[in-house]
Amino acid sequence: MDETLLKGAFQEIRSAQRILVISHIRPDGDAVGSLIGLGLSLQDLNKEVQMVLPDGIPAIFRHLPGSDQIQKQATGNFDLTLVVDCSDLTRTGEVLIGKPVPDMNLDHHPTNTKFARYNLVDKTAVATAEMLAEYLPQFGFPISSQVAEALLFGMITDTLGFRTNNMTPKAMKIAAKLMEAGGDLPGLYQKGLLNRSFEAARYWGAGLSNLERDGRIIWTSLFLEDRRSVGYPGRDDADLINFLSTIDETDVVIIFVEQGDGLVKVSWRSQPAYDVSQIALFFDGGGHSAAAGASIKGDLKSIQANVIATTKTMLGFM
Ligand code: 5GP
Ligand code: MN
Repeated sequence: MDETLLKGAFQEIRSAQRILVISHIRPDGDAVGSLIGLGLSLQDLNKEVQMVLPDGIPAIFRHLPGSDQIQKQATGNFDLTLVVDCSDLTRTGEVLIGKPVPDMNLDHHPTNTKFARYNLVDKTAVATAEMLAEYLPQFGFPISSQVAEALLFGMITDTLGFRTNNMTPKAMKIAAKLMEAGGDLPGLYQKGLLNRSFEAARYWGAGLSNLERDGRIIWTSLFLEDRRSVGYPGRDDADLINFLSTIDETDVVIIFVEQGDGLVKVSWRSQPAYDVSQIALFFDGGGHSAAAGASIKGDLKSIQANVIATTKTMLGFM
């Protein structure tokens, strides 16, 4: 990270009073943890902070202290707009439409489009929360136990419990500092990665019975009807993809989730030798080499055929 850029950005944060912090649609643990961690740290310096998620806060993240402050809309004027964990501006939904270019873009996705005035993008960071856990203390912003909880949660969830292949010794050291500052690693691990609802387990059942394989690619689909019949409240895959990624002799896993608004959410996971972020980018999505996603308009079956064929071609599987 360019030290001059970083210093300039944090000086501006220090001088601002009314600050908007925002993260992405369909928020994951890193989006929520980074948003709350940064928001609470700024509040500890007596700044007026609004924390916004365009889709609101999902029920599974409401255990995090500070999550009750998250709104779906920004109200009023701000000195500074900080966007965390978003690789491009469309990921902020409609909150920033018609607003000036955001002041800061703090992110770890290699596909980041550098859409802000200050682009703090570190693709070697395992989570946006890791970047914040490094920068906040470096520039004199406090890490209370609540801030540590939020940031450690972001790191744990984005690394699936420190086991993704982008893990680094630096990330382990930063996580240890967050534990020292009050982050409850076993508790956060349990809540972020292990606990699931009965409905989610039945929803997995639907996904598992639709599972298909062609060589070293496996895929499944989750339909609106699957969610309706088991009473699963989200529009996501209930993290089924992380389970599918543990299946032997598989290089790429793809999940198709019907969204009900003519869109299909596609997620890819791959073994280290394969970069699926470029395939997601081709479909106007983005992400990391080993974990990427896109939302594609159309009918699920034709999207499925197109995505599988494109994935095979782009990865040289035929
Ligand atoms: P997932 O497929 O689990 O939602 O996301 C995997 C990774 O891809 C995450 O880093 C996520 O931020 C990114 N990602 C997922 N969907 C999209 C998308 O539609 N656009 C972009 N730019 N990134 C996405
Ligand atoms: Mn995220």
